[in-house]
Amino acid sequence: MSVSPEFFIGWYVKAKYRYSKGTGKEKVCYSNPDHEIDVSANYCGVCGTKIISRDDITPRTLNIYDIPEQSGDLQDRFYEPEGVAKKGEVILVSNWSAGHYNGEFINSQIMNMDSLTQANQYTEFIKEHDQDISLLKEYVYDNVQLFYGAFVYYS
Ligand SMILES: [Zn+2]
Repeated sequence: MSVSPEFFIGWYVKAKYRYSKGTGKEKVCYSNPDHEIDVSANYCGVCGTKIISRDDITPRTLNIYDIPEQSGDLQDRFYEPEGVAKKGEVILVSNWSAGHYNGEFINSQIMNMDSLTQANQYTEFIKEHDQDISLLKEYVYDNVQLFYGAFVYYS
């Protein structure tokens, strides 16, 4: 596992996590749902009460893997840089993005960051990800917005 700093500059997606109630079923002890049980057993190993099946209502955060299959390869088109997002938020960077540079590059090159470059990159980003953004809004995240910015993360 390598832990090297990467420098990103460009357009990225910022969104807030959306919570969903669980949709499946879960098995619990009828007497006390907190008892640790063997899901293949019929009776609770802690207290001996019957194990029942109920709706799983544990809230969880949605993520890009909750987007239906027919949306193509969206999951492969973004990555989540680790340690960048604040609590409750998600940051997504395009895998396609031309604005993904490593630390060595930043030491040896001057990058043009004028407003025309930003505008051109925005146009390219939208051309590439317009449909993806719609799917993110519809299915998994709240407050989906595009920002231009820079950050260091570790990969
Ligand atoms: Zn029990």
